[in-house]
Amino acid sequence: MTKITIIGSSNTDMVIKSAHLPAPGETVLGGDFFMNPGGKGANQAVAAARLGGEVHFVCKVGKDVFGETAMQQFKNEGIHTRFVTQDPLAPSGIALINVDAKGENCITVASGANNSLLPSDIDAASEIFEAGDFVLIQLETPLETVVHASALASKKRLKVVLNPAPAAELPTELFPHLYAITPNETEAEILTGVAVTDLLTAEKAANILLNKGVQHVIITLGAEGALYKTAYETQHIPVAKVVAQDTTAAGDCFNGALVVGLSEGMSWPDAIAFACKAASISVTRLGAQASMPRLNEL
Ligand code: ADP
Repeated sequence: MTKITIIGSSNTDMVIKSAHLPAPGETVLGGDFFMNPGGKGANQAVAAARLGGEVHFVCKVGKDVFGETAMQQFKNEGIHTRFVTQDPLAPSGIALINVDAKGENCITVASGANNSLLPSDIDAASEIFEAGDFVLIQLETPLETVVHASALASKKRLKVVLNPAPAAELPTELFPHLYAITPNETEAEILTGVAVTDLLTAEKAANILLNKGVQHVIITLGAEGALYKTAYETQHIPVAKVVAQDTTAAGDCFNGALVVGLSEGMSWPDAIAFACKAASISVTRLGAQASMPRLNEL
């Protein structure tokens, strides 16, 4: 099994589940409150570690109670934390999440210390980069850090998987460094201009990403599973029907599981099916890291 380095954000999620999402100016009473460690990077690190991956996490938290708690949580999950550092000047990242009765969510994030994860932090961590390892990155840290990490890792012949979330436009020089990209439908549309509504439009968007220089494109399609496409192969990988409680971090679970499958030498379709299975379990539970399944549940 190869090593997985996850570079990204850590936030503390403050979640309220209520009957409906508040409209601007509205106060919704009668919700349940949960506080969970979250952040796309940390969620993906926890998902991968729970499924048996050897995970090294590179991130920045604040020197505050949220940062201390997150650090302890990573250790409890068996994640290597040598490159999780505490910024004495910035607060830890915080996300406010509302979830409605149907499992839909809306989220605001104060990034705090995540914004001070810099290219120099990647240089420091790169001493653990070994050819053939996987690197998994998202977009909740500065874009210059994402680009620098991708370029450095691909130069050292690591396999860079970018989960382009939250949705953003990306510089053209980034794509050729990517072994794989894993947008959801919205993110795929932002990156390609193609509104992804079904398999045909997903394929069209995937082709555009392949033409930009990515080797493997995986578009996640919610309850429809995922589309896998390379220059030579196209496959739709479906997911089992479940009753969704909370889709927060479904994509994070998918990405963490995907790199574990790949790092264990699974074929692409098998690794994607493994990721779909893990993510489908996570949507049946509340919370971000709290919802990530363990290997024995798959
Ligand atoms: P994101 O959470 O990033 O918006 P998706 O909604 O595409 O991403 O979900 C990611 C993965 O989670 C899907 O590919 C699927 O495997 C799983 N998933 C999401 N929603 C459901 C659902 N309602 N039922 C079963 N699996 C789901």
